[in-house]
Amino acid sequence: MKTLHDYTFASLQARLAEDGVKPVHAADLYRALHRELDQDLEAREDLLPPLKRWLRGQAREVLSVSRETLSADGWTRKYLLKLHDGQAVESVLMGYAGRLTACLSSQVGCAMGCVFCATGYMGFRRHLRAGEMVAQAHHIARVSKSLAGERLRNIVMMGMGEPLHNFAEVAEALEILTEPRGINIRPARVSISTVGHVPGIQKLARLKKNYTLSVSLHGASDEERGALIPVNRRWPLVDLLGACREYSRIKQRKVYIAWTLIDGVNDSDDHALRLARLVQGMEVHVNLIPLNPIDAYDGTAPGAERTRQFHGILREKSGVPVTLRQKRGVDVGAGCGQLAGK
Ligand code: SAH
Ligand code: SF4
Repeated sequence: MKTLHDYTFASLQARLAEDGVKPVHAADLYRALHRELDQDLEAREDLLPPLKRWLRGQAREVLSVSRETLSADGWTRKYLLKLHDGQAVESVLMGYAGRLTACLSSQVGCAMGCVFCATGYMGFRRHLRAGEMVAQAHHIARVSKSLAGERLRNIVMMGMGEPLHNFAEVAEALEILTEPRGINIRPARVSISTVGHVPGIQKLARLKKNYTLSVSLHGASDEERGALIPVNRRWPLVDLLGACREYSRIKQRKVYIAWTLIDGVNDSDDHALRLARLVQGMEVHVNLIPLNPIDAYDGTAPGAERTRQFHGILREKSGVPVTLRQKRGVDVGAGCGQLAGK
């Protein structure tokens, strides 16, 4: 199945031409569908009859909102979105006025099995098509518009799933979402978070667009990382860090390193020093995320003092740029790793 939301600008032009419709109509359709987010294309007077006739034969992407949960922080909203086959994914609107961000899912479930992540415990159900990711972004963009009167400018691929395990569809979705004639998100404002899928990082480095790469590290030795992230066996640290350096060199950008802090597991001074050593000489920025609680894993976040200490060792002692990520949406299960499509 392919829906209207699955077409990149170039593939839409090609398809129109194939179907005997002038490809110049692609720009009108992109403006209506992706820029103005119009859900009633038939009613538009600026779309010409040949295009409207073509549209009648095209499948539409329908995601229905099964549930909306609003966090006490006043901004974070989590949506459970039902797909055409009855499966569901979660998408999150996060941030604050002036910096609203859509957190999108790339798969139903996830095959990577990280022990601290609720999505991992679901197992892998299926990949999402590009159109299903684009439609999630459209939904969040409509909410941003109606809540804050703002255009959506930031996207993070940090919802359910491992985006680089679904490389081709994710790349197409981002191509569509960064198309200047459409919703026009700047590539640098798209963050792709990966478990450390090395071949995926290598492919990403070869795409034309300069997306922001964020790598979930969480451990500074293969043994420690492997205990949290089983696929570390397949893509060990030496290969992963090599791929990060290459990405940074090719794109001339820093790579973000995510480090989920777990009490007694990866939060000691020694861990901070070893992390600093691993990323030495690399263009990086470390994001610290205190573990969000999930039922299936009994780890907890370290206390405020330990967290501050870890942060201080990276920044003051080792000179590594580092930010402590604010907890957002944890009260409604919309925090990192809490998405399980329940
Ligand atoms: N599969 C990708 C993107 C989705 S997960 C990845 O793993 O990077 C998004 C982020 O949430 C990752 O950095 C992941 O390590 C982190 N995460 C998962 N479970 C978490 C939890 N319980 N608490 C805090 N962060 C978690
Ligand atoms: Fe999958 Fe990312 Fe969760 Fe690991 S942390 S199980 S890769 S979604």
